[in-house]
Amino acid sequence: MLTYLGVAGWPVAHSRSPAMQEAALAAVGLTGWRYLRLPLPPDRFAETVRALAAAGFRGLNVTIPHKAAALALADEATPTAAAVGAANTLTFLPSGAIHADNTDVPGLLEALPFDPAGYTALVLGAGGAARAAVYALRTAGAADVAVWNRTPERAEQLVADLGGRVETAPERVDLVVNCTSVGLRETDLAFKSLPLDADTLGVGSFVADMVYTPEGTALIAEAQRRGATVVTGLEILVAQGAASFERWTDMTAPREVMRAAVHDHA
Ligand code: NAP
Repeated sequence: MLTYLGVAGWPVAHSRSPAMQEAALAAVGLTGWRYLRLPLPPDRFAETVRALAAAGFRGLNVTIPHKAAALALADEATPTAAAVGAANTLTFLPSGAIHADNTDVPGLLEALPFDPAGYTALVLGAGGAARAAVYALRTAGAADVAVWNRTPERAEQLVADLGGRVETAPERVDLVVNCTSVGLRETDLAFKSLPLDADTLGVGSFVADMVYTPEGTALIAEAQRRGATVVTGLEILVAQGAASFERWTDMTAPREVMRAAVHDHA
């Protein structure tokens, strides 16, 4: 009997997780495992997920817009998922219980090329990705975590839940993490919509972009042009996927294989 994994989202057609996770399963010899793409509308999410264990599923990645619902339906959750208020990884346990985790948190920390302890950081956004980033940076010991959001009330709520401070006019920091869905390709849109200028992106600073696109994002291209060290959304995707893979399989994830697979599907 096959063992199934998958990614549930609405929409989910764009997800690179199937290619990445299928490549990983093949690389470690789990030939009886499959990773499926599951387009699930919000009104069918909970009932469908509860039925998956009986259908041979071991685990599920969860993406927009289901991360809060995934945590809500789980029987147990890691402290990380509970604190963030969202889950991107569900595991169907032999007991029948559904376990929730949030691997966006360790994924961001693994993808950073340095330990952020003592660094100053600016998180752009206040949605699920921003909540994961703020929690990650604060638990890793960042010296200051400023949060800017287009809708300031959401930044205030995030800070009330997770700490850090609201910022309305950002100044230069060591690390900028874009957790908005802004400016996927057009540089003008990215820089009109976000409170960034040359001073916040220059040499000596780090810029991480949660967003990924086939061509790379405008923010990453501009940050590289200005001399910043960059972390792409694809690197973060690989790291969060590796953490999910390890939870489900108890095997070390083949990160190089996963990295090659997401780039091949660019
Ligand atoms: P979300 O909960 O929908 O939040 C979206 C955020 O973007 C909000 O803060 C929103 O601000 C902001 N935003 C949207 N349009 C904007 C605009 N025109 N100008 C300024 N701000 C704008 O989404 P999410 O789950 O946090 O995900 C955010 C992005 O991260 C997505 O592109 C997602 O694919 C990506 N992501 C990548 C990874 C990875 O592994 N690489 C992991 C997680 C997420 P308001 O509050 O004002 O609406």
